[in-house]
Amino acid sequence: MKTVNIAIDGPAGAGKSTIARSVASELGYIYVDTGALYRTIALYMNENGMSETADIINALDKCEVGLKYIDGQQRVFLGDRDVSEDIRKPEISMGASKVSAIPEVREHLFNVQKKMAEENDVIMDGRDIGTVVLPDADVKIFLTASAEERANRRYKELALKPDCPSYDEILKDIIERDYNDMNRPIAPLKQADDAVLVDSTTLSLEQVVETIKKIILDKTGVK
Ligand code: C5P
Repeated sequence: MKTVNIAIDGPAGAGKSTIARSVASELGYIYVDTGALYRTIALYMNENGMSETADIINALDKCEVGLKYIDGQQRVFLGDRDVSEDIRKPEISMGASKVSAIPEVREHLFNVQKKMAEENDVIMDGRDIGTVVLPDADVKIFLTASAEERANRRYKELALKPDCPSYDEILKDIIERDYNDMNRPIAPLKQADDAVLVDSTTLSLEQVVETIKKIILDKTGVK
């Protein structure tokens, strides 16, 4: 049976994961966070002290990245180790942005993403889901917000944790990752021609969830 595939792309910190998770649980779809896959490769490279592209490409065979769903929550595995928390460190964000520009890394992760979408009704978020991974997705959304607003949200989220970076550091990181993601030659971050643009700069989380749910329900005809 054909599965329902929904693609949500957009820059770092636009709220894709929070919104996709919420809409997926309401509609009974599986939420696939593809950034976690790139982060896992970056974690492996980081822990093994690798920074040269050739070394990274040679190590890909050993880098078994897998997704499992435990109580409906995505967990990401490197071999049989659950790395779901370790991949969230700030240095891994920048590492993921760097390894994601390597074509062999993208190819390595392409099949994991494709298989998930073939076997399940999914809401998949990332940078190239509507353009490359699921070009025939039933619904495509490009979710964005100003860099300042995205930095502001991330800062509020991290402010409760020890070693929180400053607002300026977060903003700098966001601008640098946007630049890397939009300017890489392969699968750059961009809005697919047939994607619906949602700018969340002045919207609350609830408003964005409602907006995106409405777009999905209108396009899929699901009630
Ligand atoms: O979404 P998240 O911020 O976790 O993604 C980490 C990095 O992985 C991004 O900055 C981007 O470089 C890369 N990525 C990608 N393609 C995707 C998802 C993430 O290139 N589909």
